[in-house]
Amino acid sequence: MKNWKNTTDFLREIPLPEQTRTYKPVSHAIFIDEIKEELYKRGHSVKTERYLTANNGLIMTGNFTVDNPDSHINPAIFFTNSYNKMRKAELMTGAIVLVCSNGLIRQEVAHRFSKKHSGTVLEDLRNNIVLAVESVEEEFEKLKNEIFNGSVKSWLDAKNKFEEIVKKAPKKYLRILKSENSIGDHIYNSKNCINCFDAHEIEDAYNSASLGDSKDVYSSYSVGWPRSELIYYSSVVRSSQKCAFCKYIWQSSDLFYCDSCISCKNCFGCIGLKHKEYCILNKQYSQEEYLHLIAKIIAHMKSTNEWGKFFPQSISPFSYNETAAYDFFPLSKEEAIARGYLWKEAEKKDISVQSSTNDILMCDSCKKNYKLIVQELKFYKKKGLPEPVNCPNCRHKERFGKRNKYEIYKTTCNKCNTQIFTTFPPANGNVVYCEKCYQEDIN
Ligand SMILES: [Zn+2]
Ligand SMILES: [Zn+2]
Repeated sequence: MKNWKNTTDFLREIPLPEQTRTYKPVSHAIFIDEIKEELYKRGHSVKTERYLTANNGLIMTGNFTVDNPDSHINPAIFFTNSYNKMRKAELMTGAIVLVCSNGLIRQEVAHRFSKKHSGTVLEDLRNNIVLAVESVEEEFEKLKNEIFNGSVKSWLDAKNKFEEIVKKAPKKYLRILKSENSIGDHIYNSKNCINCFDAHEIEDAYNSASLGDSKDVYSSYSVGWPRSELIYYSSVVRSSQKCAFCKYIWQSSDLFYCDSCISCKNCFGCIGLKHKEYCILNKQYSQEEYLHLIAKIIAHMKSTNEWGKFFPQSISPFSYNETAAYDFFPLSKEEAIARGYLWKEAEKKDISVQSSTNDILMCDSCKKNYKLIVQELKFYKKKGLPEPVNCPNCRHKERFGKRNKYEIYKTTCNKCNTQIFTTFPPANGNVVYCEKCYQEDIN
């Protein structure tokens, strides 16, 4: 099979069916090239181009988003064509509004053209390409006035609309791409990752999250960047090998129960060391003494049932509700305390009033005070966004609530009933599809 450089090469090489008295097919290339040309003519540049094909390229759908560096709004032109009479020649202008990395496709259409492949279809299509590109500018202005006008109401209306669309849209069971034998979420270019989340270029990992370019990782968080290997029950490990029960380790190897060590080797229970070897509790030993002592320590820890576990909660410098663990696995104060975790009470200095000069604001949601700095205010003004009415913590909580937790549920595909694993809680009423159904539906 020929290895196409990209989809447009593939589409260009599909032979145009023969024209008859009544059937006037239009080349895919007209859509691919002439829309872009028209955009360039009017001073726009194309930010993204995307194509989907069906029936071996006899059907094509695609879209161009138009670059607009000063805003989240990207006007877009969508098009469809076919060489088998299954789809008309179609053109539509809308907009993709970016909310984080998600795209909201604006539902209202600024310009639409749809015509069977007959009669003056080619001429009409060309005229409509010009009109569609003209409407891109109008669409941008309209959106700016409707959504990004600095009003809380406009912003919330648009946000609610977007959330409704997201809620109804079918979801893919797990986000796993170019990976083999893996279960988890956001796993890319990886192999043998089980119960892993946010993993890129990972091989052989289990029960771990936030991983990049690493191998053999077990029950750990934030490993890699640069590559690390053989990491066990550890947190935040960079460019290191053979580390167990450690946290904040850089360019090191063969460490046990170490914290904040850089370029160290063969150390046990050390903190804050740099360029050291054969240390126990930050004390220097010879190689012989080190090996003898750690064998004794490990035997003792086994007898007290401490060996093989991460540092105990009792020595954590942070309370549970001020760590990232609380974001991923929220617990109530009572639950956290029952598990032996520390809990931080709200600070008394919060005055819970709005100052008359508006330099101290009060959160609509939790009633704590917060400030907005000049740079923030400038940013909101530039983007046409309203000033936030919630404190940074509440805003963080809201954003975080939008992503799925590090939890996998066993359920069935809403379309074909195949058994699937997913991070979408079945009780939330999401429509979740298996890989096959998702690909069919989206294409
Ligand atoms: Zn708040
Ligand atoms: Zn299915």
